[in-house]
Amino acid sequence: MYSLLHCHFESALRALALVKPGRLQCVRAIYDSRSYRCATPAERLTLLWQQVLSLTEGEDIFGEGTFRQIIRRLLDDARASRVEHIDLRVGPSTGRWRWMRSAADGLTIFREELSRYDGLTVSFLAGINMTKSEEQLDAIFDVLSDGEVADRIAGIDLNFLPGDLPKFNRYLHLIRGLQSSGLGVNIHLGELFDNDVSRYVLANIVPDRIGHGVLLLQDPALIDIVKSHGICLDMCPTSNTVLGVVNWKCESPARRALRLGIPVSINTDDPVLFGTNIEREIRLARLTDEERDSVVAYSRKFRYDES
Ligand SMILES: [Zn+2]
Repeated sequence: MYSLLHCHFESALRALALVKPGRLQCVRAIYDSRSYRCATPAERLTLLWQQVLSLTEGEDIFGEGTFRQIIRRLLDDARASRVEHIDLRVGPSTGRWRWMRSAADGLTIFREELSRYDGLTVSFLAGINMTKSEEQLDAIFDVLSDGEVADRIAGIDLNFLPGDLPKFNRYLHLIRGLQSSGLGVNIHLGELFDNDVSRYVLANIVPDRIGHGVLLLQDPALIDIVKSHGICLDMCPTSNTVLGVVNWKCESPARRALRLGIPVSINTDDPVLFGTNIEREIRLARLTDEERDSVVAYSRKFRYDES
């Protein structure tokens, strides 16, 4: 049985897949476009999400019934691929789901639906997308300092691009505060930008886990930091391969990290966007039986408890 530690909820894309499944072709068509082929990994991710945004803009598909159904589908998919636990990254604001008074309403529906699934648990990570404006980020940190949502999350998961470092600096004291209050801290590093940025971030905060981290393995000093703090790298083979970060069909960063004594988990990242599940990801990682057992054990060890 698997634990998924790096999995985005993708609520807009899931709503689209449920209500207008034919539209998913329009998202996947991006992969074959010339602009996608010529783009950097960060630009590729932006192209994909811009397409999701344009396909969902103004659509009347974000009702409460749809929300409940996409949760059922997510939990059904998890059970079908032998997942026993998910650390799920969710948006801390209500976004397009306008009937919610706060994200807590969404978490309540999750809890109700989860009660029908024996042997499956979900912990929630509040996604903090540092590419958002300071006004939006202020609102997110307000939500996280308030009881209703904060009491129900197990951690936070940060992502940003190099141009967002001033914002990272501005909110660093709040991030540290959330960590010392007992929340787990995950940061996407070693994926969309070079190691100078990762070096800076890791000099300022020690995350509990790192999303991806595959490029960190190119730098001995960063390997030392990850090892000495016992940080788990939550890797996602299809995502890396499709975005052009690392081609897992040619190499397995998971095997390399495990040989270096670094904890690794294998994950789906955005399973709907990339059309994958955990069993496929494990296969793509090309692990020996012993390495796969280590990954399963690390995933269980590093997952966050339900709050
Ligand atoms: Zn991710």
